[in-house]
Amino acid sequence: MSASLGVLRQKLVACGRQVTPARVAIYDYLNSVTDHPRAEAVFMAVRRKLPRVSLGTIYRNLEVLVECGAASRLPCADGSARYELRTDRHHHVACPKCGQVADLGESEDLVLLRQLETGEGFKVFDYQLQFIGFCGECRGR
Ligand SMILES: [Zn+2]
Ligand SMILES: [Zn+2]
Repeated sequence: MSASLGVLRQKLVACGRQVTPARVAIYDYLNSVTDHPRAEAVFMAVRRKLPRVSLGTIYRNLEVLVECGAASRLPCADGSARYELRTDRHHHVACPKCGQVADLGESEDLVLLRQLETGEGFKVFDYQLQFIGFCGECRGR
């Protein structure tokens, strides 16, 4: 068992869930990609390992992973959701042409956030920030 599967096991057990082949396969797949796949893409990949798995099972188990803190759900502007294993707060950039979503490097230059807290008096407890822009492949086309 790899180190990352150990992490998965620990998180599932901590929230009273079992380690199932579907959960392991989903986790494995998310661990192998950086493109924040939608449930459909996870389904296509996991189906190669578990031919009898259904899209519904993938949806349910993605949510179990999110609930246990083993993965996170990234809501998209079009109403769909994407998934990744990173659970720390970080920012994304999405390309509207090819649809890829990438992580941005660390940046805590959040002038706006400070302005909200000191100027407007809000106590901000969460935020989502997504940049939209053409990726290297698409910008030339
Ligand atoms: Zn693109
Ligand atoms: Zn991300």
